[in-house]
Amino acid sequence: MTTRRRGLRTRVVHAGEERLNGAVAAPIFRSSTYELGEPESFDDIRYIRLNNTPSQRAVELKLGALEGGDAMVTPSGTAAVWLALAHAAGPGAHVLAPTRIYGGTRKILDLLAAREGLEVRYVDLERPQTWAAARTERTRAFFVESIANPWMSVAPLDEVASFCRAEGLTSIVDHTLATPVLSRPLELGFDLVVHSASKHLNGHSDVVAGVIAGEATTIREIRVLANRYGVCPDPEACALLARGLKTLPLRVEAQSASALVLARALDAHEGVEKVWYAGLPDDPSHARAKQLFASFGTLLSFRARGGAERAKRLVRALELPIEAPSLGGVETLVTRPATTTHAGLSAELRASMGIDDAMIRVSVGVEDAADLVADFEHALRRSAVHAA
Ligand code: PLP
Repeated sequence: MTTRRRGLRTRVVHAGEERLNGAVAAPIFRSSTYELGEPESFDDIRYIRLNNTPSQRAVELKLGALEGGDAMVTPSGTAAVWLALAHAAGPGAHVLAPTRIYGGTRKILDLLAAREGLEVRYVDLERPQTWAAARTERTRAFFVESIANPWMSVAPLDEVASFCRAEGLTSIVDHTLATPVLSRPLELGFDLVVHSASKHLNGHSDVVAGVIAGEATTIREIRVLANRYGVCPDPEACALLARGLKTLPLRVEAQSASALVLARALDAHEGVEKVWYAGLPDDPSHARAKQLFASFGTLLSFRARGGAERAKRLVRALELPIEAPSLGGVETLVTRPATTTHAGLSAELRASMGIDDAMIRVSVGVEDAADLVADFEHALRRSAVHAA
C-alpha cells in the first residue's frame, strides 16, 4: 500500500501492514531463519542478523514512511548513533559536534576518539560563522541533536543541513526528543536521522531500540556494517515498536500540549528560578522552534529556588511523576540530569555544559495536564515548607 503521501497519522497506522491471514494485528515472527526456496542472490537469504525477517521489515517500512526515506532498526539508540558515526566517519576522520550534547553520545565520541583516532571538534551551534574554521581536510560529518537534552535548545537544522551540503559533509541529526511529529529532517536535507526508539517512538517504556533513516543507498551500506558487527534488533522489540508507532502522533501532540501548560505554570511560579522550554516566548529557541517544528515538544527542564537539596525534596514530593531516567513514555518521568543522563561526565564538564545539580528534567506523559500542574504546585509548596 502506498502511504507516503498521506497524513502522518494514516501512515503510522497503515504502512508496513501485510494483513497476513487477514490478521488486523500483525503476528510476531520469531523464526530466526527462513526456507530458502530458489535464491537468486545473497539478498534472498532471510535471517534475523541480516535484519530482514518479517517483523523487522514491517517496522522498518512504517518508519521509512514516517521519515520520508529508508529506515533500519537497531537494538538501541546507542547502536544507531554508533553505526551512523562509524559509517560517516571512519578511523582518523574529524567530526563536528555541538558542545552541549547528550552524555551518552559524548561518551561514544570520546571512545571513538580514544580507540579509532576520531577527532571531534566541538562547535557552538549558535555561531554558524565559526563552523567553517572548525572544519579540516579530514572532516567527514556534522552530528547534531534537533532538541538538545536537557537544555531543550533547538538546533538551527536548516543552517546545519545547508552548511553540510556546501562543505560535502554527512549531516547526522539525533531526532529522539523532537520525533517525526515535530519535523522530518530528511525533508530539510539531512543525510541521516537517528533516534533512540526506546523513547517516544515506542512510547511505553518497555522497549530498547534505535532507528537510522536516510536515503536507500546509505541505509543499505549501514545494514552491511550492522551485519558485520552482528547488530540486529529482536523481532519482539520490532513488533512492540510497530505497535507503539501507531499512536505516536496522538501521544506526542497531547504530550506537547501538556508540556506547554506545565511550562507556563512553572514559569509563573514564584518558587521556580528558571524553565527551559522553547514554547515560552522568552526562551532563546522560541522563534526557531516556531519556524521548524509543528509544536514545542514534550520535555522541559526547570530549576526551583533552593539548590540541589530543594530539587531532591521536590522530586520526592511529586505523586504522579516517577523519578526515573529515560523519556518519551506515556507516564511523566522526572530526573536530575546531573545524576543520570550526564552522570558519566566529570563535574567540570557538566558545569561547562551548564548542567547544575538542581536542574530537573520532566518528560511529560499523557496524564491530564491539570493533574500534573496541581501535582508540581503541591510538590513546590511541600519542598519549600520543609526547607523553612
Ligand atoms: N540519544 C538521546 C538524545 C538519548 O536521550 C538517548 C538515551 O537516553 C540515546 C540517544 C540512547 O538511546 P538508548 O538508550 O536507546 O541506547
